Amino acid sequence: NRAEELLSKDRKYVWHHISPHNDNPLIFVSGEGCWVKDAEGKRYFDGMSGLWCVNVGHGRESIAKAAYEQMRTIAYSPMMQAHIPAIELAEKINEWLGGDYRIFFSNSGSDANEVAFKIARQHFHQNGEPTRHKFIARHRAYHGSSFGALSATGQAQRKLKYEPLGAGFEHVPPPYCYRCPFGQTYGSCKLECAEAIEDAINWEGADSVAGVIMEPAITGGGIIVPPPEYLTKVRDICDKHGVLLIIDEVICGFGRSGERFGHRNFGVKPDIVTMAKGLTSGYSPLSATAVRADLYESFKSKEANSHFRHVNTFGGNQVSCAVALANLAILEEERLVERSAFIGQELSRRFQVLLSHPNVGDIRSFGSAIGIELVEDQTSKKPAAADKVLKVIAECKSRGLLVGKNGDTVPGFNNIITLSPPFVASDDELDFVARTVIAAIAALGSSS
Ligand code: PMP
Repeated sequence: NRAEELLSKDRKYVWHHISPHNDNPLIFVSGEGCWVKDAEGKRYFDGMSGLWCVNVGHGRESIAKAAYEQMRTIAYSPMMQAHIPAIELAEKINEWLGGDYRIFFSNSGSDANEVAFKIARQHFHQNGEPTRHKFIARHRAYHGSSFGALSATGQAQRKLKYEPLGAGFEHVPPPYCYRCPFGQTYGSCKLECAEAIEDAINWEGADSVAGVIMEPAITGGGIIVPPPEYLTKVRDICDKHGVLLIIDEVICGFGRSGERFGHRNFGVKPDIVTMAKGLTSGYSPLSATAVRADLYESFKSKEANSHFRHVNTFGGNQVSCAVALANLAILEEERLVERSAFIGQELSRRFQVLLSHPNVGDIRSFGSAIGIELVEDQTSKKPAAADKVLKVIAECKSRGLLVGKNGDTVPGFNNIITLSPPFVASDDELDFVARTVIAAIAALGSSS
């Protein structure tokens, strides 16, 4: 049969991402709305929107048309010159950001972060501050797979076999209130998690630090949502020490957080914003690094070689930019950012009953990025063993729902079930998601 034939060829030829040796992958053949179909004809609700990206759902005609029309008109021209889709998209991204930014296009979230690091370093170089080259990032954070982005990543398991990585990346503990790394309780703490950033800047030497990079809420590392004042405090610390604040909106951007961008939930203005996934809802590879306009101006000096020496052949290609414009039009016309906020509230509300299950320690959400933290028992908070986590995922899958977990992190801390449904999920579909997750966790049994 066709499915078996495909599977044997897959095993023979394809090297899968991250999965050790993916001997039983789903082979997706089609998608419509929130649903995907595999080679055996089984349908699944795409509870992770692919990998946090198919936010407008599968099979969108207007995006397919935009790609087709653009390919017929002109499919490619390099970004040393200009083209209409990039011009229009850069303007649109500025509108979404509500600020004055210059947009550098690349292909992936990792690319966008590499560009951010290089721009930050060169900016200080242009200003005659060549020693400002370090970056502060956080444990548990994921910023990409390429060397710079991996250096910024705060998960040892992803890095160990690839060292030495880029020098100059320091990590501090995240604002993880459920397991406060400082042993504090939110409400009576001094936001030691934010102070840790200032400590790191001071100990590294403030005039050696170029930037602080963070997601508005850590997503892949376990849906770690900071207290409301955290980001403003970080912004103040960066300002005080002349350090750039780089916000990674690769997952949170374009509605996942329930706002247009995650940082808008906290009222801060970043110096650099990186974005990818939701920019095209995964219909075509594209990412962007938005840089404060006056930083861009610092590259305009008359000095030879003051320009940013970075080229990316496919970055900002005409087809991907046209696709992004069609995607953003859908988000606006169908008011999907608001829908995302609703989805997050609704699923969190439904999931509250899970807190009576001994293996559920915490439920967190940032817009419609949702995490259910599984524990061995609620008192010790010991992270649930891998078999429990895998059982919940398998149980959801057998009931037709795909969910995720918090990546490939430190052993014993891979215990957070994640959901990020497409924003087009109907009320009935949300009901299906809620019922399925609740039933899958109930299937663990109730003895801890
Ligand atoms: N930053 C964050 C926050 C991400 O979640 C990811 C990907 N999951 C990346 C960067 C890297 O993006 P890409 O896989 O497109 O390189």
